[in-house]
Amino acid sequence: MRYRTLGSTGLSVSVVGFGASPLGNVFSPVPRADDGALVGRAVDAGINFFDVSPYYGAGLAEERLGSALAPYRKNVVLATKCGRNGADRFDFSAKGITASLEASLRRLKTDAVDLIQAHDIEFGDIDQVIHETVPALWELKRQGKARYVGITGYWPSLLARVASEAPVDTVLNYCHWNLLSNDMDETLTSAAGRMGIGLINASPLHMGILGGVRLPEWHPAPPVVRATGAEVVSFCRSSGVDPATLSMWVCLQHPSVASTLMGFASVEQVDSACAALDFAPDAQVLRTVRRLVAPVHNISWPQGRPENEDIGRVLAVSEEDESKVAKA
Ligand code: NAD
Repeated sequence: MRYRTLGSTGLSVSVVGFGASPLGNVFSPVPRADDGALVGRAVDAGINFFDVSPYYGAGLAEERLGSALAPYRKNVVLATKCGRNGADRFDFSAKGITASLEASLRRLKTDAVDLIQAHDIEFGDIDQVIHETVPALWELKRQGKARYVGITGYWPSLLARVASEAPVDTVLNYCHWNLLSNDMDETLTSAAGRMGIGLINASPLHMGILGGVRLPEWHPAPPVVRATGAEVVSFCRSSGVDPATLSMWVCLQHPSVASTLMGFASVEQVDSACAALDFAPDAQVLRTVRRLVAPVHNISWPQGRPENEDIGRVLAVSEEDESKVAKA
């Protein structure tokens, strides 16, 4: 494993991070009996950064991760979130945030988390996030219930703007820097670097698309993006390359991301991700994959409150997307 320092926190985190949303059965059912082996395999591989949220399976992922991680708790960096309580249920108030972390600590069987993050801020009232939510996170830090505070979300430019107005230790962005996208670098990467904020990249498989698994109903990516992902998976497999390993390898090339979080549902998936650490892709395979993804590169989908969306990008993309679907 390789490790990087998470911004100014001084925390040393594994470049491959453990995303625990699959333990909430959000993609498909994951057998609970395997939790100990799954988390144990990750720890044995040197993974020390674990990310979860009360939103994943309405507390289930936290409960399962808390039990499986108990033997290793002192040696890992544990991150959870608050503010998002359901697909359409959000509470970014100071009271809600505080109650949410209390419940998370109970489920996670710990006195404090290493990182508490406001979850999916694009669904919130941004003034409230800046003036109430983030200060409430700092209060939890002052009380010793969390060591560091952060924000997470879909739109890189929104995360950069909020981080410049409300001090945070970390930002987590997803689906904006992997084989299918790189526009996190247009705004967020340099802003985080300038402010000494730890940068966390999530969803290297674009929420499962590049893993070739059956996608859940709720998956937000437009059909043209899913279809392209399926083409990439099938091309990789026919070339003898594990698409998940290649996808993680691509993310590990980012110079400023401290950790890339992949969602794991089995020990084999942990092994696939960690194989990226000493993987060397064939240049021709990589060129072909880049050519396959080019028509859908940086396609975004509507996410969060309309006023928080990167409007230019969603509008530009939807016209472009339509013409691509028409051509396909
Ligand atoms: P991902 O791109 O990591 O894909 C996860 C899916 O791919 C799961 O279904 C998993 O079982 C499957 N998968 C993993 N390895 C595979 C392999 N080798 N072969 C085939 N399939 C494989 O997406 P994700 O889970 O959404 O993101 C990773 C983590 O990042 C999450 O668990 C969460 O911790 C974090 N995250 C946070 C936010 C946020 O805070 N807003 C958003 C997205 C993700």
